[in-house]
Amino acid sequence: MDNSYDVIVVGAGNAALSAAIAAKENCSSVLVLEKAPEYFRGGNTYFTGGLIRFSFDGIEDLKEVIYDMSETEENSIEVGSYTEDQFYDDMMRVTHGLTDPELAQILTTQSLPTMKWLTQKGVRFVMAFGRQAFKDGDKYRFWGGAIVEAVGAGKGLSDQQFEVCKREGIEVRYGAEAKKLIQDNKGRISGITILGPDGFEDISAGSIVLASGGFEANAEMRSRYLGPGWENVKVRGVPYNTGDGIRMALEVGAQSHGHYSGCHAVAWDMNAPASGDRNITELYQKHSYPFGLIVNINGKRFVDEGYDFRNYTYVTYGRALMDQPQGLAFQIFDGKVLERKLLRDEYNIPEVTRFEANTIEELALGLDIDPKGLVDEIEAYNKAVRTDIEYNPTIKDGRCTEGLEVDKTNWAETIDQPPYVGYAVTTGISFTFGGVKINNRGQIMNSSLEPIQGLYAAGEMVGGLFYYNYPGGSGLSAGMTFGKLAGETAGRDAMVLKD
Ligand SMILES: Cc1cc2nc3c(=O)[nH]c(=O)nc-3n(C[C@H](O)[C@H](O)[C@H](O)COP(=O)(O)OP(=O)(O)OC[C@H]3O[C@@H](n4cnc5c(N)ncnc54)[C@H](O)[C@@H]3O)c2cc1C
Repeated sequence: MDNSYDVIVVGAGNAALSAAIAAKENCSSVLVLEKAPEYFRGGNTYFTGGLIRFSFDGIEDLKEVIYDMSETEENSIEVGSYTEDQFYDDMMRVTHGLTDPELAQILTTQSLPTMKWLTQKGVRFVMAFGRQAFKDGDKYRFWGGAIVEAVGAGKGLSDQQFEVCKREGIEVRYGAEAKKLIQDNKGRISGITILGPDGFEDISAGSIVLASGGFEANAEMRSRYLGPGWENVKVRGVPYNTGDGIRMALEVGAQSHGHYSGCHAVAWDMNAPASGDRNITELYQKHSYPFGLIVNINGKRFVDEGYDFRNYTYVTYGRALMDQPQGLAFQIFDGKVLERKLLRDEYNIPEVTRFEANTIEELALGLDIDPKGLVDEIEAYNKAVRTDIEYNPTIKDGRCTEGLEVDKTNWAETIDQPPYVGYAVTTGISFTFGGVKINNRGQIMNSSLEPIQGLYAAGEMVGGLFYYNYPGGSGLSAGMTFGKLAGETAGRDAMVLKD
C-alpha cells in the first residue's frame, strides 16, 4: 500500500473529529478522510445550532465546561440540574422505550466527561441564553436539559475542532472519498481504498473509525429504508451523507441495528435548495406553527397544531407533510400573531416563501391554495374556537377548538385580523436513525455479535440509539461521546497491534 497510519477516521463532522482527537492521544499517527472539498467541510455538524444535551448535577459541573464563566454571569443564572437518570429517562421516553440500554447508558454517563474533555482540548461553549432560558425576576432560568451551545453554533464547533486537530498534528485529506474496507486473510480490517483527486489509492491502518454520517442524502436508500415518497424530500444538511460508511461496514459483515425506517425531519421552506445552504444553515425550518394553522393545497387542516409545545411535535409534523398532496403545506397566521411577535427569527430571512394579503381568499390565490377550501376551513375553525378560555402562548393554555374533524388543543386563536400571512413548507430531512451495531468499546459488531477487529464507528451511523424521535441536542452529544470512545479504543488497539 502507498502509505500507512495507526488510525484512519472516515468523515470530518463532530463524531469523526472527536474520534480523531481521542485517537491521537493514544497513538502516533491519525489521518482523517473527508469526502467533501475543504470549503464544504464540517458535515451536518456545521449546519446545527450547536445546542448540546448532557447531564450535569449543578452549576459546578457547568463551570468545568464553561471555565471562563464570570461571577456576574454565574449569579445571574439558575441552571438546576439534569441528572444522568433524567437524561436516560428522556432517551427512553422519546424513543418509546426502544433505545439500546447499553448505548443510552454510555451516552448519559459519559456526556459530561466528554464535554469537559473537549473543553480541555480548547473547544469553547457558552450558556444558550437565546434559546433555552427565560428571564424570571433578576435571574435567567434555564430549562430542558440542552442548555449549553458551542461558541459560534455548529460552524463554531466544527472550526474549533479542526483547530484542535491542526494543533495535535492530525492530517486531514479533503476530497477523499472512502470506498471500500480492506481485510487481511484473518478478517481483520487492515486498510481502506479511497477515491481522491488523483484516483484510487489504498491506505493501510491499524484501526479504522467510520464516522461518515447516515444515509439522509441518498435518495435510493431513503426510499428503500424510509419508504416511498422519501426520495423526494429536501436534505437539510450536506449532500455527502449517502450511507457510505454503513454500506462499507455491512459489506464486511457488520450487524445492522436500529430504526432503519426512522429519521428526524422538520417543516422546511418549499423553495429551499435540494440540500443545505451553508449561509442559511437551519433557518429554512419553520417552527412557529403552534400559533397558527397548517393547511394543505386544498385548504384542509390535517394535524393538531397545538397538541403540545413545538419541541414535542415538530418531528412528527415535519414527516406528516409528506403525506399531503404534492408533499406541501402552508402555515397560516393573522395580524394578531405578527403584533405579538410570535414568529421565530427564521420567518424573517429574505429567502422565505411567503405571501401576505388582506383577505383569506387573496392569501389562498397568492399561495396556490384552493380559495373556497381555505375560506370554508378558516370559517369553521374560527367558529369552533373556545374564546371563553384565556389565550396564553407561554403555557399550554388549553384554549382549544371543539367539534372539528381535527381539533386544536392549545393556543387556538381566531384567524380574523389582517394582514394574513402564509408560508409554504415541505419535508426537510435532518438525519437517519438506522446504522451499525457497536459494543461498549465502540467496535462494530458482526452478525455473530463478535467485534470486527480493527473497525469502529461513531456518530449518526451508529444504530440503536434513536427511534421515532430524539431529545434535541443529543445528536451532537452522542457524536462526541461515541467519537471519543471509538477514537480512544481504536488508538490503543492500533498500538497493541504494532507491538
Ligand atoms: C439543520 C440541522 C440542525 C441540527 N441541529 C442540531 C443541534 O442543534 N443539536 C444536535 O445535537 N443535533 C443537531 N442536528 C443533528 C446533528 O447534525 C447530527 O446529529 C450530527 O452533526 C452528526 O454528526 P456526525 O459527525 O455523525 O455526522 P456529520 O457531521 O454529518 O459528518 C459526517 C461526515 O462524513 C463525510 N462523509 C460521508 N461519506 C464519506 C465518505 N465515503 N468518505 C469520507 N467522508 C465521508 C461527510 O462529508 C461529513 O463531513 C442538526 C441537523 C441538521 C441537519
